[in-house]
Amino acid sequence: MNIPRTSFPRVVIIGGGFAGVALAKKLSKQEVQVVLLDKHNYHTFQPLLYQVSTGGLEPDSIAYPIRKILKDFPNFYFRLASVEEINTDQNKVITNIGDLKFDYLVVASGSKTNFFGNSEIEKYSMAMKTIPQSLNLRSLILENFEEALLTSDLNERNALMNFVIVGGGPTGVELAGALAEIKKGILPKDYPDLDTRLAQIHIVQSGDCILKGMSEKASQKAEDFLEKLGVNIWKNVRVTNYDGKTVTTDTDLTFETATVVWAAGVKGATIKGLDSTDFVTRGNRILVNEYNQIKNFQHIFAIGDIACMVTEAHPFGFPMMAQPAIQQGKQLGDNLLRIIEEKPLKPFVYKDKGAMATIGRNKAVVDLKNVKFQGVFAWYVWMFVHLFFLIGFRNRMVVFVNWVYNYIRFDREARLIIRPFKRN
Ligand SMILES: Cc1cc2nc3c(=O)[nH]c(=O)nc-3n(C[C@H](O)[C@H](O)[C@H](O)COP(=O)(O)OP(=O)(O)OC[C@H]3O[C@@H](n4cnc5c(N)ncnc54)[C@H](O)[C@@H]3O)c2cc1C
Repeated sequence: MNIPRTSFPRVVIIGGGFAGVALAKKLSKQEVQVVLLDKHNYHTFQPLLYQVSTGGLEPDSIAYPIRKILKDFPNFYFRLASVEEINTDQNKVITNIGDLKFDYLVVASGSKTNFFGNSEIEKYSMAMKTIPQSLNLRSLILENFEEALLTSDLNERNALMNFVIVGGGPTGVELAGALAEIKKGILPKDYPDLDTRLAQIHIVQSGDCILKGMSEKASQKAEDFLEKLGVNIWKNVRVTNYDGKTVTTDTDLTFETATVVWAAGVKGATIKGLDSTDFVTRGNRILVNEYNQIKNFQHIFAIGDIACMVTEAHPFGFPMMAQPAIQQGKQLGDNLLRIIEEKPLKPFVYKDKGAMATIGRNKAVVDLKNVKFQGVFAWYVWMFVHLFFLIGFRNRMVVFVNWVYNYIRFDREARLIIRPFKRN
């Protein structure tokens, strides 16, 4: 990989997501060599992926070059590489561009969509975990409407205009709200010769409420907002299959649709060599101790979505969200310096800053530690928090201007089929 060996200990980080970047920043000006490996050369702000899928934002406004984030830091190296295996005996990572030895290894590879082993659902439904996947979804939505214009078969037309979102978590809720706004504000103008009132948006949720991780009030309010926007919510219904045409469920309910978005869960993105059942636990996450160390290793760590740190308050690990990832990245940075300086480690303590979701224009729900609110103010708070955590001044400005423009004009101008979607 052409990375010089220096007298500084080498920390290899796999993944430039929230956790990996927070850690790299923490180590940036210290006497360590930091090598960050990622299969993308950019950091993705995943909470706004649904806006890319629905034409509200251009993809480059939620992505940021990893090299630029860390450009001013000495002893920092980035390599565009997909890590294929970790050899824990020889302390090296094996990638598509070569091998690299490490003194300390941090796995921050995040998570991937969990289809729960159903290969048909995996084949025919759409995931929304990366920017390319969001662009695929954007193209598919628009292509379906173009196709709906051409068919005289009523059932086929309806199926092309039906959207089924599986999973009523924040991703499913936010996407459904955005689609409902497109149906109301954009489709009638773009497709005046199509009866777009027939377009249907469904959320199918296996549990008895949406936004399960949030307060009852937030869940109920989100449901009210969605119903007002015309979204159909099916609770206590589990999707069992999708063959590209029909969604079947564990009830009598079926849906004819050309678009299924799978937002029903994620699992840890484990890597060969660190996938032993000894420490890979529920949700395919790697069990770590309070210092993010992986069982049996003093010098190999996992942080962010991939890590499962069990505490009394969180028996299944912390929620797979940006905050635990950022906080663990920062804390591990401190602890790695402590190890090098031979000081005792500090255990990780999660500071829960709450959760939020937006349903659409002027509609959001916010649960903070001591206060919960919904509606217009919650929507402003949601926008402010997302702008604040976006990386890069340009991205913040672009997103802000886009939001103001879309708000005033009731528009989403990125409804472009740049790269037609082709199912493999
Ligand atoms: C659609 C969506 C909406 C979300 N909304 C919210 C929200 O509103 N609020 C919130 O708090 N959280 C939200 N999340 C969750 C949040 O984005 C994740 O919890 C967070 O990104 C986890 O950070 P991470 O660093 O662990 O992993 P990630 O951010 O996923 O980063 C992992 C990185 O590792 C790289 N990688 C993986 N495997 C390899 C490999 N083998 N070799 C090289 N590189 C590799 C990936 O390319 C990626 O860059 C959302 C997630 C999604 C998908």
